[in-house]
Amino acid sequence: MKKIYSRPAALKDAPFHYCPGCGHSIIHRLIAEVLDETKLQEKAICVPPAGCAVIAYKYIDVDMVEAPHGRATAVATGLKRARPKNLVFSYQGDGDLAAIGTAEAFHAANRGECITVIFVNNAVYGMTGGQMAPTSLLGQKTTTSPTGRTTLRDGYPVKFSEVLAPLQGSSYLERVAVNTPANIRKTKKAIAKAFKHQLKKSGFSMVEILSPCPTNWRMNTVESCRWIDQVMVKEYPLGVLKEVKC
Ligand code: SF4
Repeated sequence: MKKIYSRPAALKDAPFHYCPGCGHSIIHRLIAEVLDETKLQEKAICVPPAGCAVIAYKYIDVDMVEAPHGRATAVATGLKRARPKNLVFSYQGDGDLAAIGTAEAFHAANRGECITVIFVNNAVYGMTGGQMAPTSLLGQKTTTSPTGRTTLRDGYPVKFSEVLAPLQGSSYLERVAVNTPANIRKTKKAIAKAFKHQLKKSGFSMVEILSPCPTNWRMNTVESCRWIDQVMVKEYPLGVLKEVKC
């Protein structure tokens, strides 16, 4: 029988625990495919987040060092400085990176640490039940903003890639999405490019990935993919925000 599916070597043979339609499963696979194709699996060290992807070590077959919530870029910095020949990347959600870990991420980027952040933006705190995140959209209903986010009470959505772009230490920042086949292909290319920037020592690299969370958005899979296209990208436009020559 013709084989129609093959698992990347860097992805373990384990069923994902993620909800149906969740973007984490796609992103894990893309990272594994890039690691396979670049032959970087043996050199890679991942710092997973606190959040739905906290047990990413069950799926992505690379060395992993867990960090306390929000501290992943600080841990990644230490790992990279101690082991400069390794490929070091953190995998963080929007609460982890853009709220609890703001200081760590900002200063790692400003110092030009040669690490890569895979930033999964699904506009809510996923694991803890869908509370408002810094990235939640204006008007978005969450468990802690049941009538919708307002500027008066909650401020504006944080565009973290745009925050990091002016810093001299950041070298590659791209925002992508995993809601359509075409966008998934672009996401894979962006991850590969971010890793390349790290290996060329050009500075801090980050790929922000708009990712569906059907469970907390109270949508089905199709609706959540459409919501990214119709609503989310208006606040978070896709594309390269910064790329220095490397
Ligand atoms: S809660 Fe959301 S982010 Fe977490 S696994 Fe489910 S769909 Fe994914």
